[in-house]
Amino acid sequence: MSDRLVSCGIAIVGGGTSGLALATELKRLGVDDVVVLEREPIAGGVPRHCGHYPFGVRELKRVMKGPDYARTLVKNAVAAGVDIRTGTTVTALHPDARLSLSTPDGLVDMQADRVVLCTGVRESSRAQRFLGGQRPMGVLSTGALQSMVYLHHKRPFKRPVILGTELVSFSAIMTCRHMGIKPVAMIEETPRITSRQIMRPYPALFGIPVKFDASDLRILGDKQVEAVEYTDAGGIPRTVEADGVIVTGKFRPEAALLHASPIEVDPATGGPVVDQFGRTTDARYFSTGNLLRPVETSSWCWHEAVGAAKRIADDLRDPIGDCPSTHLLASDPAIRFVMPQRLAITDRNGGMEHAQIRLNTPATGHLTAISGGKTLWGDFIESRPERRILMPLAPLLKPDLTEPVQLKIIGNV
Ligand SMILES: Cc1cc2nc3c(=O)[nH]c(=O)nc-3n(C[C@H](O)[C@H](O)[C@H](O)COP(=O)(O)OP(=O)(O)OC[C@H]3O[C@@H](n4cnc5c(N)ncnc54)[C@H](O)[C@@H]3O)c2cc1C
Repeated sequence: MSDRLVSCGIAIVGGGTSGLALATELKRLGVDDVVVLEREPIAGGVPRHCGHYPFGVRELKRVMKGPDYARTLVKNAVAAGVDIRTGTTVTALHPDARLSLSTPDGLVDMQADRVVLCTGVRESSRAQRFLGGQRPMGVLSTGALQSMVYLHHKRPFKRPVILGTELVSFSAIMTCRHMGIKPVAMIEETPRITSRQIMRPYPALFGIPVKFDASDLRILGDKQVEAVEYTDAGGIPRTVEADGVIVTGKFRPEAALLHASPIEVDPATGGPVVDQFGRTTDARYFSTGNLLRPVETSSWCWHEAVGAAKRIADDLRDPIGDCPSTHLLASDPAIRFVMPQRLAITDRNGGMEHAQIRLNTPATGHLTAISGGKTLWGDFIESRPERRILMPLAPLLKPDLTEPVQLKIIGNV
């Protein structure tokens, strides 16, 4: 801890879409002293380096490129009276809303009334994907490529392979085209494109072949990438010559700060365990945005943050305080995660209206919430891992709820 201590009302860690939308709404609700702490020299988060459309359609009623959208969010926050401190990295979270900061003026401690964690997501690195082969230059995530292209106007390669077919893999194609880079193939480990159906014709439009069911991926090259090797669906080894690799998607919450903190992490989402009010296991820390779970669009995060602002402002005026809680559990192998993971048992209204659920595998059956042998809610689903499933929380939030609520997919084949 530092000798220098400053204080504030609400400290928001992360000045991306969520942090900025939250801060602006808190000011609109009349909350004083809202500070956004952003480690980059400019606030705006991921959209700053997404130099493509469409951002802002639902929330700002305009179709914008990412950097324009980010600038607008910053402008709106400043106009609302938010104090945005850039070049400021939060280095530790201590109990009861005390933060350690590394600032342009040195190390500082900050004591807040409430802290809201909005540090977003990042793509899995090469190491986290267990990719084999050599360690040449020219292996980048989409985020790193976008930052090189849009923020630094650099072209790291000319003929890369794109690994993955999530929505962000298609952003990678757009980023490549912006800089005259021509991807030579997309390589996917599963039998189909991970992104929504609508994206299926997209690679063919740009003459990019997609290789499905690829296994045993290896990156080859001494200094720079020279090729990617994989085994195809028929067990035959294949080689694609390339001078770069873009590793896309497989998002995980940017949760490094949580690991040495008083806040419990959910291994399933990779983000903090929260209740329906967005409170973490230290009740003065809240969270919103993509840190809660991988991964949603900017528009979704914006709306989620605006909803969170009301709950946080209410808690500041009239703290929810300690109350009993129970767990909301993904008790079916087909369910990857559920958020929130805890249900506070209180007569206080105004929490999240829905739990968000994602699957591990495609599933068809009755998604059912069961507690103490009683079915509290159920509905038929036919869904896939990339789709968001929303489950209403009202049927679960009963004053006599004591047993954990288990989620199962009954009749899934
Ligand atoms: C590579 C990539 C591409 C994407 N492309 C799109 C797209 O095209 N369209 C779309 O809608 N969504 C896209 N997304 C999803 C994106 O996460 C959301 O659009 C949106 O940015 C989420 O907002 P957020 O505020 O939760 O997170 P972010 O925008 O990621 O903001 C988090 C902020 O926290 C800051 N931060 C992190 N740790 C600290 C710390 N310790 N101290 C201080 N500051 C910290 C970061 O610097 C960052 O500014 C993409 C995500 C990624 C990773």
